Amino acid sequence: MSLINDCVFCRIIRSELPSTRLYEDDLVLAFLDIAPFNPGHCLVIPKQHHHSITTLPTEYQGRIMSVASKLGAAVVRSLEADAFNLLLNNGTCAGQEVPHVHLHVIPRFRDDRPIFNPAKQQYKDQAHMQETAAKIRAKLGE
Ligand code: AMP
Ligand code: ZN
Repeated sequence: MSLINDCVFCRIIRSELPSTRLYEDDLVLAFLDIAPFNPGHCLVIPKQHHHSITTLPTEYQGRIMSVASKLGAAVVRSLEADAFNLLLNNGTCAGQEVPHVHLHVIPRFRDDRPIFNPAKQQYKDQAHMQETAAKIRAKLGE
């Protein structure tokens, strides 16, 4: 575990950089995103530096999700949002810019603009779908 890291979120944890804090406990910190998709957009981060959710210890994985769930309920009630997104970009190709795990909590409103505009694909056929599932299952336990 390393809090001796120069990443921007580790510096926020150590209060070397300012943030608008919403919640803190022994494992996680939540604060407002400085460039929100909507006002109230916040981030929940573990107090341990990990680039990827896959190396984050399970107690932190669980806590960021349970805190994000409570924050989602709080933004709906406090900001009269209609819904919220929980979003975690894991890896550069997935849109991760800050190399410290963070779960976005994004308040959403009726008639909001879309976050994603994906061009969805289809499986070539049933066999392609089954082969894909088999490959994933084979690596799940590792
Ligand atoms: P991602 O693209 O998933 O890595 O998201 C990184 C998020 O961190 C973006 O939404 C940024 O606006 C946000 N962000 C970056 N620096 C700060 C900061 N100093 N305080 C608050 N939010 C930040
Ligand atoms: Zn960090």
